[in-house]
Amino acid sequence: MPIPTGVKVGVLMACVLVTGYFTYKNMAGPVNENEEILNNRIEYFRCGKNHEFNMPAKDSRRIASDNGGVVVCPECNGSSSEVFPCSNCKKMVDFVGHGMIPDKCPYCKQKM
Ligand SMILES: [Zn+2]
Ligand SMILES: [Zn+2]
Repeated sequence: MPIPTGVKVGVLMACVLVTGYFTYKNMAGPVNENEEILNNRIEYFRCGKNHEFNMPAKDSRRIASDNGGVVVCPECNGSSSEVFPCSNCKKMVDFVGHGMIPDKCPYCKQKM
């Protein structure tokens, strides 16, 4: 007995939907999402001897966890703190307080 075309299309559609759903679920998982952000984000640091360096966030996380929470300078092994480049003059600006950026760049006085 031949299977009606409508049923065949319905089964095919169901397969596509199920495959699509699982693909979506795998790609949108919270772990993958965080890893993606860490892989793509570059963080900037400056050590006590004014060496400036940057690295992907995933590397800084690894180095920090190997060194008691401190990202050490690749040149002098000193401890460093995170800074960020001014979008205007590109100088490295210190965070104020806990991860807050200042209103104005201390170098070029432009609004951040
Ligand atoms: Zn250094
Ligand atoms: Zn600036």
